[in-house]
Amino acid sequence: MDLKEAKIQIAHLKEQLEIEKALNDVAFEAIGIFDEDLKCVAANAEAVHVLGYTSEELLHLTAFDFLAKESHSTAKENASKGLTEPYFATCKRKDGTFFPAEVRANNVILKGRKFRATAMRDLTFSRAMETDLADALYELELIFSNCKVGLMLLTGGRYLRRANQALADVLGYASPDELKGISMRQLHISLDKYDEFGETIYPELAHGKPLKFEYQMRRQDGNTIWCSFTGQAIDRNVPANLYKGVLWVIDDITKRKAKEEYLLRMATTDDLTGALHRKEFFRRIEYLTDDVDQESLKCSVLMIDLDNFKNINDTYGHEAGDAVLRDFATLCREQLRDNDLFARVGGEEFAVFLPQTTRYKAVQVAERLRKNFADKDTIYCGNFVRCTISIGVAGATSEYVETEELLRSADQRLYKAKESGRNTVVFFDE
Ligand code: GH3
Ligand code: MG
Ligand code: MG
Repeated sequence: MDLKEAKIQIAHLKEQLEIEKALNDVAFEAIGIFDEDLKCVAANAEAVHVLGYTSEELLHLTAFDFLAKESHSTAKENASKGLTEPYFATCKRKDGTFFPAEVRANNVILKGRKFRATAMRDLTFSRAMETDLADALYELELIFSNCKVGLMLLTGGRYLRRANQALADVLGYASPDELKGISMRQLHISLDKYDEFGETIYPELAHGKPLKFEYQMRRQDGNTIWCSFTGQAIDRNVPANLYKGVLWVIDDITKRKAKEEYLLRMATTDDLTGALHRKEFFRRIEYLTDDVDQESLKCSVLMIDLDNFKNINDTYGHEAGDAVLRDFATLCREQLRDNDLFARVGGEEFAVFLPQTTRYKAVQVAERLRKNFADKDTIYCGNFVRCTISIGVAGATSEYVETEELLRSADQRLYKAKESGRNTVVFFDE
């Protein structure tokens, strides 16, 4: 090899060294080369940065100077065995402080001598992150387990990922584990409801805002319960990717609902007979007849009064009278259609509004009621108590008549029925 060639090779090697140094110095890991006594013979910029020594100082130190005592034996053993598996160690800085690290080393032979190339990664930051994450998970765990309202975390596809004991209690399951992984299909009261929920609620969840509403769910025993629902998508983007999941806060409001329904019933219906109160009766008639083409709404009314009812009270007692009133109301409910209105308008006086019913048909209804009631015994304290009714009917004929007018006519005809001997239906004026 001539001088020129040698110079070219030296220049090439220098270049190669520069590249290696640049690579070493940009590495995120601290990199060092140690001899057989684990004395440092080379170190990169990150090693200087992490350990706090200058690169000159590092070359006078051994690996044991950078390691906490408890990590000395591992380092020594790994070096002597030439192990290359990564391991955790506690490292020591120049200022005497310690930090967790992950170390990986490899034996290299240079000029016949054994060296150990070592890379070390400072885990302070990732360990802190892990601790924070573990703390956050623990906090979440505490919230889930101690929360007195039901919590339900769903995954995409509407499967339950996580629930708490309160939710298990609400839905009648023994533990949250029993709920884990089940499809929401099982918790809706029907498949139609499940589909409808997906079609209406899910697009709203995608808007990102929390939703709040009341909804019926199915317990494990098949019973239906009312729940309050508050929910939000996990994904914070708008529109939210609902596949990332949804968090629902669920509370059992069955008792409150029952109370509300009871109060509403009390406000609109009579406690003894379940018939509508007079006021509610007129309110509903107005609702039904308002804004409706009068020709298409041919309606009829019945005014009904129990005959000689006072005698029943006098003979068998007031409670027997109550039982008769209840039986009469039950009979009416059985015989009338769902959209007919049945009201108690006086002590033993009732009114029936029959929408889309001609007078001819209404008379048939009245006659059937009269006959069936006359044949019915109310059994009270071993007594067979019988009563009859008188009915006045007024209804749609060829000409339209105002409802008030119909009620007035029916009332007058009821009076006629009483005059003509009771237990009878009157449907025309003489
Ligand atoms: P008529 O055939 O002429 O209608 O005779 P009546 O005895 O049915 O009529 P009257 O108006 O003389 O008496 C009605 C009775 O109904 C008097 C009242 O004490 C009784 N009454 C009203 N409300 C109730 C109730 O809620 N329970 C009971 N048991 N009786 C009631
Ligand atoms: Mg009466
Ligand atoms: Mg009366």
